[in-house]
Amino acid sequence: MSTNTTSAYSDFHLQFIAGEWQTGKDDSTNTNTNPYNGDTLVEIQQATKDQLNEAYDAATQAQEAWAKQTPAARAAVLYKVVNILDQRQEEIVDWLIKESGSTRIKAMVEFGATRAITLEAATFPNRVHGEIRPSNTPGKENFIYREPIGVVAVISPWNFPLHLTQRSIAPALALGNAVVLKPASDTPVTGGLLLAKVFEEAGLPKGLLNVVVGSGSEIGDAIVEHKAPSLVSFTGSTSVGKHIGELANGGEYIKQVALELGGNSPFVVLKDADIEQAVRAAAFGKFLHQGQICIAINRVIVEDEIYDDFVERFLAHVKTLNVGDPNKQDTAVGPIINEKQVKSLKEKIAKAQEEGAKMILSGEIDGQVVPPHIFTEVTREMDLSRNEVFGPLVGIIRAKDEDDALSIANDSMYGLSSAVFTADMQKGLRFARGIRAGMTHINDISVNDESNTPFGGEKNSGIGRFNGEWVLEEFTRTHWISMQNEPREYPF
Ligand code: NAD
Repeated sequence: MSTNTTSAYSDFHLQFIAGEWQTGKDDSTNTNTNPYNGDTLVEIQQATKDQLNEAYDAATQAQEAWAKQTPAARAAVLYKVVNILDQRQEEIVDWLIKESGSTRIKAMVEFGATRAITLEAATFPNRVHGEIRPSNTPGKENFIYREPIGVVAVISPWNFPLHLTQRSIAPALALGNAVVLKPASDTPVTGGLLLAKVFEEAGLPKGLLNVVVGSGSEIGDAIVEHKAPSLVSFTGSTSVGKHIGELANGGEYIKQVALELGGNSPFVVLKDADIEQAVRAAAFGKFLHQGQICIAINRVIVEDEIYDDFVERFLAHVKTLNVGDPNKQDTAVGPIINEKQVKSLKEKIAKAQEEGAKMILSGEIDGQVVPPHIFTEVTREMDLSRNEVFGPLVGIIRAKDEDDALSIANDSMYGLSSAVFTADMQKGLRFARGIRAGMTHINDISVNDESNTPFGGEKNSGIGRFNGEWVLEEFTRTHWISMQNEPREYPF
C-alpha cells in the first residue's frame, strides 16, 4: 500500500519533451480509453515531426553531460526511481488496470518486474567496465572501452507497457545514454508519460528522457530514420519489427537495432509429468493478461498417453477462472486491449472450427471481454499452432511421443520462450536443449522474466537480449583503443 502523502500525477494530456510538459501540435488526438468499460481516461493532442526533432535535439544535447556524471550520481537517480515506484505503487497499479486492462494479479506482476529491472539498472553505472588485452605487436597495449551509445530510440508495446518500456529506458539512462520514447497508442500513460513523471520527480536532468506520443503515420518512421539515435530498441510485433529493421539499415544512416518481437511458445507435457501441476501452470501461463504476452503459452503439446487426462483436468480448472472486471481481486481473465484485437480473436475462433479443431470450451464475448476458449485435436498445421494468438484461446496438440513433441515444439518460425513438464530432470534438460528458442523453463511456464537473466529470442522473435550484462552490452558501444608505446617497425 502507498504510504506517501504526495498527490497523484496529473496532466497526462501533455507530451514530455526537453524536460517540459507541452501540448502536442498535431491536428490528431489520441483518445485513451479503459478497455473494460470504455471510459475516456485522457485525450492527448499528438506530437508533430517538429516536436520529435525537438526531442532528439534535447536528448543529443543533454547526453554528453549525463555521460560525464559519476556512476554514483547516475545510480542515485535510479535508486530514487525505485523509491518513488514503491511510494506510488497503488497509483501505478491502478493505471495499469484502467489503461491496459491488466487484472490486479497481472498489474502486480508487472509492477514487480518494473521495480526489479530498475534496481538492476541502478547497479549498471558501477558494473560497466573495460578490458586490457595482450597485443602481438611489440610495444602495444590494447584497451577496450565500453562507452554510452548516445541517444537511444525506444518504441514499446501495450501489453506490459510499464515494464517493457522501463526495461529499455532504465538501462539506457543508467549507462549514460539519453532516450526518445514512443509508447504504444493504447498505453501512452503506463507506457511512457507515467515513467516520465517518475524520472522527473527523481531528479533526472532535463532532456535525457523524452516521451513523444504520436501516430505511427506521422512520427513512426521518423523516429527510426532520424540521424540522432545510434540504437533503436523496439518491442512489438514481428511485422512492425521487420519494417523497423529495414528502416534502421536501409536509409541514410545505419543504426543498431534491438528487436524483441512476437512468440509462439510451446508448452510440452511429457507422459511422466505431474499432470495436476502442469494443468495449473498451463492455465496461468496461457490466461495471464488474457494471453496477451509475447511469452504466453501459445501451443499446449501433450504426449498421447496422458492427453485425455490432461484435457479433462485442464478444462475443469479453466472453468473455475473468474472472467470480467480486472479491478476485482480474484479476476483471472480481464478485457482485451482494443476492438481490433477482439475482432482478430473472433476470426481465429471461426478459423479453428473451420479447420476441424474441437471447441470444448467457449463463452459469450461481452464488449472486449473474451472468455477462455479451449480447442482440442489441434494439429501443427492449423492457424492456432502456426500463429501467435495473443488472446485467451488455446489449442491442445497431441504428440505421439517425446521426439514427436520436440519436433512439434520446434516447428515454428518463432523462437522466444518455451516450457516442458516432466518428472525426470535429465530428460527435461535434454528436451530443453533441443528446443530452438532463447528461453526454456523446465517444470514451469514460458512466462518468466528475471532482471539478471537473458531475455530474448531467435528466428522471427528478434535480435538481442534484455536484462543483466546482456542489456548492459546492448546499450553501450565497444571501443578498442591501442597505445603504441615504442616505435613500431613497418615493412615499408
Ligand atoms: P505493434 O508492433 O503493433 O506495436 C509496437 C509499437 O510499435 C507501438 O508503440 C506502435 O505504436 C509502434 N509502431 C507501429 N508501427 C510503427 C512504425 N511504422 N514505425 C514505428 N513504430 C511503429 O505491437 P503491439 O500490438 O503493441 O504488441 C503486441 C506484439 O508485440 C505481439 O506480437 C507480441 O508478441 C510482441 N511483444 C514482444 C515482446 C518481446 O519481448 N519479445 C514483448 C511484448 C510484446
